[in-house]
Amino acid sequence: MPLPEGILDSALDAVGHTPLIRLDRIASVEGFKCNLLAKTEFLSAGGSIKDRIAKRMLEEAEKSGRLIPGVSTVIEATSGNTGIGLALACALKGYPLIITLPMKMSNEKIATLRALGAEVVRTPTEAAFDSPESHIGVAKRLRDAIPNSVILDQYSNPDNPLAHELTTGPEIIDAILADFSSHSSSHKSSGLVDVVVAGAGTGGTLTGVSRSLRRWNSEVIVIGVDPKGSVLAYPDALNESKDDAIYQVEGIGYDFVPKVLDRMPPTVDKWLKIGDDEAFPAALRLIKEEALLVGGSSGTALAGALKYLHSEEGKHIAQTEGKNVVVLLPDGLRNYMSKPWFLGAAQETETPLSKNIKKILERS
Ligand code: PMP
Repeated sequence: MPLPEGILDSALDAVGHTPLIRLDRIASVEGFKCNLLAKTEFLSAGGSIKDRIAKRMLEEAEKSGRLIPGVSTVIEATSGNTGIGLALACALKGYPLIITLPMKMSNEKIATLRALGAEVVRTPTEAAFDSPESHIGVAKRLRDAIPNSVILDQYSNPDNPLAHELTTGPEIIDAILADFSSHSSSHKSSGLVDVVVAGAGTGGTLTGVSRSLRRWNSEVIVIGVDPKGSVLAYPDALNESKDDAIYQVEGIGYDFVPKVLDRMPPTVDKWLKIGDDEAFPAALRLIKEEALLVGGSSGTALAGALKYLHSEEGKHIAQTEGKNVVVLLPDGLRNYMSKPWFLGAAQETETPLSKNIKKILERS
């Protein structure tokens, strides 16, 4: 599914259609022979993987008559990116939009939402999902009080995983097949996706991508990555460690299992737990070594892939030329420019070149 040719009607047509990019530098540093590949969702129109579900949930609700232009108000609880995707669609289609999201989520996301015309309500990060104060609870209270308002509900809406089953997964397959049949690539390829690694928030990405990839290759190994402190990994014993109970990485992990997440085999083969201490350095590696301007949850996904490929179970894949390992990178650095994990690493540091520049400028 390449980007439509010619002139696009609006930004909504530039949702998805994201490139699959080789992580050759990281693969080489790690000593891998397999192809390490990244699905770069920050290159979607709204800057994240959630644009796809926002577009689909909204358009399907219009088709079914649940949403009526000029009448309905859209309300959604999100960690920000679904909100930005919805705000993009609502700005173009003219729907008023209210976004509820936990305090933890970055100011950059709030600014983008407001720039797109959304009303933003921030809620306490520590509120349990089923309390009236949580972002989900506040969205429901507003829906009950505002006439003609609709919650599309990414946590239970089948159009969330379906968007990924119908677009994200098939785009990955198309890219692998195009590379396999081009004969011009200097890389060997199995012609299949052998391993896919993704984090889960609602779980829509993992569930939908897994469904389409497994239909194509029943042997694909699907790996879910979950922050330490979240309860999404399966079996539940994996979630028992209480260290890092509050994690800073945004958009993944929850204190309940959303309805749209199918976290067991054959949808997800294996779960890995990744802490902030592994996620943020891995995100910075994607930025510095591969020049991919990603956010924190992309680091979680990469750290999960590296952990698997270095494990007893995964190392035969890492050492097999032509095996294709795809890592989903959900959003971009735009959302996190002021966050300590990025700012700390972006300080001016003294290098041989910077010393030389100083010397030259002092002399001249
Ligand atoms: N990363 C980020 C930054 C996100 O905003 C989200 C969505 N909450 C995800 C990953 C996970 O996507 P999904 O909801 O499809 O599991």
